[in-house]
Amino acid sequence: MTRFLVLFVLFFAFFYWLFRKIGGKKENKEVVDTIKCERCGVYAARSEAVVKGGRCYCSKECAERKG
Ligand SMILES: [Zn+2]
Repeated sequence: MTRFLVLFVLFFAFFYWLFRKIGGKKENKEVVDTIKCERCGVYAARSEAVVKGGRCYCSKECAERKG
């Protein structure tokens, strides 16, 4: 019975590792969502972008700069 349980756990550990490996490959292929800064035109990751008044900026400095 113990031997069966060990095989059972190893079986699931293998598939867990396999799915993580496949998932990791998919993640690397994913293109990072980017925005273009309304102020300086630099492309920045959406997660790091600053949104102010419906416009996207690359940084807080650009969002607050006037002119
Ligand atoms: Zn900018």
